[in-house]
Amino acid sequence: MTDNPIDTDYLVVGAGASAMAFVDTLLTENPQARVLMVDRRAHVGGHWNDAYSFVQLHQPAAWYGVPSRLLAAGTTEARGPNTGMQSLATKPEVLAHFVAVMRDRFLPSGRVEWMPKTEWLGSEAGVHTLRSLASGKTFQVRVRKRLVNATHARTEIPATHAPRYRIAEDVRVVPPNELTNLARPYAHYTVVGSGKTGMDSCIWLLEQGVAPERIRWIMPRDAWVMDRANLQTGAEGFEAFVRSSIDQFDAITHAKDLPDLLHILETRGVLMRLDPSVEPSTYRCAVVSRGELERLRSIRDVVRLGHVHAIEANRLVLDRGELPADPDTLYVNCTAGAIQHEPKLPIFEGDTINLLLVRWCQPLFSAAVIAWVEAHGTHDAARNTLCHVVPVPEVPLDWLRMWAVTMQNEAAWRGHDAMKAWLSQCRLNSQHVMLQGVEINDAVKQRLGTLIASSAAAGARLPQLMRSLR
Ligand SMILES: Cc1cc2nc3c(=O)[nH]c(=O)nc-3n(C[C@H](O)[C@H](O)[C@H](O)COP(=O)(O)OP(=O)(O)OC[C@H]3O[C@@H](n4cnc5c(N)ncnc54)[C@H](O)[C@@H]3O)c2cc1C
Repeated sequence: MTDNPIDTDYLVVGAGASAMAFVDTLLTENPQARVLMVDRRAHVGGHWNDAYSFVQLHQPAAWYGVPSRLLAAGTTEARGPNTGMQSLATKPEVLAHFVAVMRDRFLPSGRVEWMPKTEWLGSEAGVHTLRSLASGKTFQVRVRKRLVNATHARTEIPATHAPRYRIAEDVRVVPPNELTNLARPYAHYTVVGSGKTGMDSCIWLLEQGVAPERIRWIMPRDAWVMDRANLQTGAEGFEAFVRSSIDQFDAITHAKDLPDLLHILETRGVLMRLDPSVEPSTYRCAVVSRGELERLRSIRDVVRLGHVHAIEANRLVLDRGELPADPDTLYVNCTAGAIQHEPKLPIFEGDTINLLLVRWCQPLFSAAVIAWVEAHGTHDAARNTLCHVVPVPEVPLDWLRMWAVTMQNEAAWRGHDAMKAWLSQCRLNSQHVMLQGVEINDAVKQRLGTLIASSAAAGARLPQLMRSLR
């Protein structure tokens, strides 16, 4: 039976992936820390619980999850457009990872208390209030050290967020989760939304044998995406990873302006787009393979008329026009906003820790870094110097804004011996993972030397490039 009031060192609000990586690291780095985790959801893993069943982690599992435990087995794709590439972790694998961490590590430690279906309502005079969404009972919590706010991602996914456009009664609009429950085929499928979820839904339909002519894709904004071939781990992925890193640094060093930067990145194969004749207006860290992009290009009915306002049985109303529609169309709503803009907050803020990004596109590694810095830092000003907030990407310029802060943080980490030592063995650190299984011979040393030199050149050029873009 939970005491009321509850005393704890850390109250962690949210038990999504970021919170799990934070707590896992904190338990290792501060052997005395006691933690209370709460979430409105019934299970750990946050938004992954509500994601569509065919979602996959698009970054390598080798640096996702919690530091103390590997996620997924590291197999290779045996068929389809990604043959030979490392397999992506599936939704069940991601969720099983977090469930096992809670069951086998957090709870047996005796230092973590877990309250599912429990909402944090706020705090007054240092006392926090929780409410069970099942029993309605409220709890007071006295926190000896900090509140850890692991809710800033405010993840919006189609299954939990209703579409913002009008839908006529006789029209069927479903989240991608419903695709796997289809009871009959439709004459047409219209995928609404151009983010990673929209791409996944289009690919899923094509994989089921739906002819591309039966698919319409509403694309409010084209996106820059990253090439999955550059994110293969181990010895076989080393050269592509290093080359693409050098290419990114070179692009920063030599670009005249933003269009030139994006052009260099595309020419070097770092960034890709669906249609080379359309200038993307968004960038959100999505990872796609060239084979998948080719498949997506087989869909010819791509609608670039802005956002949808209304769907009626016979027509679609968009920002910049109307289109006729087949009444026997299934609309797949992929318009939720995924991760939201970060609030303008420091990471270490008095009695609160805000779990935000400290390396680009790496929320879990970021959470682990923050836990390490919390455990070993001396005071918050010094902690925040190691943890400047990397913005959540939205527009192409954010590619550069993320790099600017990431490089600032990494320079600070390199100047901190204890942190450097920890980073050199942290499972979530992509730079460490990429060296695993690689024989450090002269050729590899030379490539790493080139990488370091190109990174230094980019670091020197970046402030000026950023100023010129403002
Ligand atoms: C479809 C999809 C695919 C993705 N793929 C990748 C990927 O391949 N690689 C990658 O790095 N990232 C990926 N991401 C980003 C992903 O969001 C992060 O990796 C990570 O899962 C975010 O976790 P989180 O814990 O920060 O947020 P969330 O999963 O949103 O968890 C926050 C939790 O806080 C809880 N909460 C909020 N308010 C309260 C409250 N007041 N009281 C109690 N609980 C509360 C919520 O219920 C929720 O469970 C993907 C995102 C999406 C949407």
